[in-house]
Order: sequence, then C-alpha cells, then structure tokens
Amino acid sequence: MNRKNILIVGAGFSGVVIGRQLAEHGHKVTIIDQRNHTAGNAYDARDKDTDVMVHIYGPHIFHTDNETVWQFVNRFTKMMPYINRVKATVNGQVFSLPINLHTINQFFGKTCSPDEAKALIAEKGDSSITEPKTFEEQALRFIGKELYEAFFKGYTIKQWGMQPAELPASILKRLPVRFNYDDNYFNHKFQGMPEDGYTCLINSIADHENITLELNRSFNHEERASYDHVFYSGPLDAFFGYQHGRLGYRTLDFEKFTYQGDFQGCAVMNYGSVDVPYTRITEHKYFSPWEKHEGSVCYKEYSRSCGENDIPYYPIRQMGEMALLDKYLTLAEAEQNITFVGRLGTYRYLDMDVTIAEALKTADDYLNSLENKQSMPVFTVSVR
Ligand SMILES: Cc1cc2nc3c(=O)[nH]c(=O)nc-3n(C[C@H](O)[C@H](O)[C@H](O)COP(=O)(O)OP(=O)(O)OC[C@H]3O[C@@H](n4cnc5c(N)ncnc54)[C@H](O)[C@@H]3O)c2cc1C
Repeated sequence: MNRKNILIVGAGFSGVVIGRQLAEHGHKVTIIDQRNHTAGNAYDARDKDTDVMVHIYGPHIFHTDNETVWQFVNRFTKMMPYINRVKATVNGQVFSLPINLHTINQFFGKTCSPDEAKALIAEKGDSSITEPKTFEEQALRFIGKELYEAFFKGYTIKQWGMQPAELPASILKRLPVRFNYDDNYFNHKFQGMPEDGYTCLINSIADHENITLELNRSFNHEERASYDHVFYSGPLDAFFGYQHGRLGYRTLDFEKFTYQGDFQGCAVMNYGSVDVPYTRITEHKYFSPWEKHEGSVCYKEYSRSCGENDIPYYPIRQMGEMALLDKYLTLAEAEQNITFVGRLGTYRYLDMDVTIAEALKTADDYLNSLENKQSMPVFTVSVR
C-alpha cells in the first residue's frame, strides 16, 4: 500500500473526521491546532464550580436527517435524547418559538384553530408586496408587521448589525410559522447531545494509532513540503496572508454568569427587542437534561462585527464579501496538494452534521483520487 503522510490543519469536526477516515485506510495523519484544545468551536468543558458542561464558544445542538452522519457519531459516543425548545421574551411577555399556534394565540390573545390561524396570518401578511426583494419585505409579506417586528426585526438587527431591509429575501425562504403546537426548534429526524460532550466525541474520533494530534501548533507554509497532502480547515483568507483584505465575519461575545438554582427554566431565551443589547441568554445545564446540578452557568450572547483579533463566527457573505471571496478562490484554485475544508476553509456557515458529511466525502474523494491516480481537487464542495 502507498502510505501517505497527511497534514490536517484544525482539530474541529472537519479535521478529525477526515483524519479518522484516512487513518483507518492506513495513512499517517498529523492533526494540528493552534488552540490549546480540540473540537474547534464545538469545544465544551465542565465548569469547575458547578460541574455543568459549558459550550465554551456558544451552544451546539446536534440535529440531522443524514443517517450516515448519525451512525458515524453514534460509533464514537452515546447520543442522549434532546429536543431544542426556544423561548422569546418580547414586550414583557414570554412566547414560544419558532412561531407556532401557541405563539399566535398568545400574541393576538385568541384561541384560533389551525385553519383560523392560517386565515389570520394570511390577513396579517402584506399582500401588496408581490415581489419581495429584501428580508424585511419577505417577512412583511409572510406574517405582517406585528409578528415581524416582535420576533424578527430587532433580533436580526442585533445578530447581523444590518437593517433587515439590507438583507436579501432569500434568507426567509418559507413561511416561518407552524399552524400546530409543535415547538421542536428543528425539523430533523435525529436530534441529540453527546453524553460526555463534543470534546470527548471529537477526541474519540481522533483516537487512532495512525493519528498524531498536536495542540498549540499553528500551520506554517514551509512544512507543506514534508507532507503528501494538506487538508486545511483554517480561514481561507488567513492562508493567503489576507493579501486581498479580510473576509467579513460576525463574532460573538459571551458574558458568563453563574446562578444558584435555575435561572430561566429553559436552554435558550431570545430577546427580540433592540433595547436589550444581547440576542439571547443560554442556560447550559439545560443542554444536558439527563444531568442534575444545583448551580447554573449562563451566557449572555452579544453579536458584533469581527475585528482582527476576534474569533470569526458567522460568515457575512454579502456582495462585497463574495467579490473578495472570489479573489481568494482564484488563488486557492492555483494550489496543489492541498484541500480547503470546513466552515473557515470554505467561508460558509455549516452545521455540524453538514461539516461531518462533507468531511466524509472529502476523505472518500482523496482515497478515490489515490486509487485512480488523479489529482485531488482544492475544493470538494461548491463554495461560490
Ligand atoms: C455560535 C455557534 C453556534 C453553533 N451552533 C451549532 C448548532 O447548534 N448545531 C450545529 O450543528 N452546528 C452549530 N454550529 C456550527 C459548528 O460550530 C460548525 O459546524 C463546526 O464547528 C465546524 O467545524 P470545522 O472543523 O469546520 O471548524 P472549526 O470548529 O472552526 O475548527 C477549525 C479549527 O482550525 C483551527 N485553526 C484555524 N487556523 C489554524 C492554523 N493556522 N493553524 C492551526 N489550527 C488552525 C482552529 O483553531 C479551529 O480549532 C455553531 C457555530 C457557532 C459559531
């Protein structure tokens, strides 16, 4: 067998899943990460005072329709039952999200049946908007001014730092309302939380005799020569020394506080009003509902534009960024023996299940390229 020497930059889901697949095929894999821990943004750790499992870079809920991905994670951990239910505090009242029959009835002070609620929302929607171009127009057309302003407007301004009238209509593809009492935030077939946390899951994926894991180690270009192929899950613009400027991201600040007892009674409480500076409060013990803790750890979450020394969270992908992205893609496409992967390497927001599915595909593509003696593409997914 032609054993390859592989370097993987980043020990998040992208890096460890590719590493694992290649290691199982006998290749020698080195995974490096500049941080002092594995798991990338899915990193979690127990709080010393309360023993609560805290999602350090913000809450992560695993949900997927992809059977292969679900089976893959279940090979490495026990997934515990978890249903994400989100509440929102608006104008001094607490509502259920996503907007469902309970929300509608409570908001309008009614006792509508599903059909009555459909008629009510149709009547509230602004039918004069026939070709919505912006997020705001789309929301007004679908649900009308009152629900839009209560649940979307302020939250969007805080989350994206932009007016909804500046965002494209494509963000809101479908009517964001359910006409029943289903308040399960996600529609996916599988949903759950890893029993011992995401870090433990990722460490277990990376635990293979052909994998060497090195933390506190940043990638440098010189070391490429020592490897047959590099899989790079760091930021695409950073790889090219930001020579065309920085791709725009939103970053998050978390204000951590502890509470003796139960702070808000649920995992996620959104705050839709612009008068409240944070977007939501998350109470982390509710992400592990099978555990019991006296104390509680909460995060107030603030969103802002990402500066040079901040952690990039959400790619903005507006017109300006896409033009810049195009320049970096052109540079990347001229490279050889490297594949850019993951949320930072491809400048896209990816949920964990999509990240894992793409990583499995990337590893398969690499193995096939070796077998067929073809060169490995720089991107294995469409990124434009
Ligand atoms: C706030 C927030 C909430 C989220 N919630 C959910 C959720 O509920 N459900 C869900 O499915 N997904 C969620 N996600 C998405 C999830 O975090 C991503 O899908 C996942 O982290 C992507 O994995 P990755 O390996 O591509 O990237 P990352 O996890 O970012 O890993 C990349 C790694 O590369 C390392 N690195 C970068 N540059 C270098 C370098 N030069 N040298 C060495 N190492 C480097 C970084 O340190 C990092 O550890 C959320 C994301 C955020 C930001």
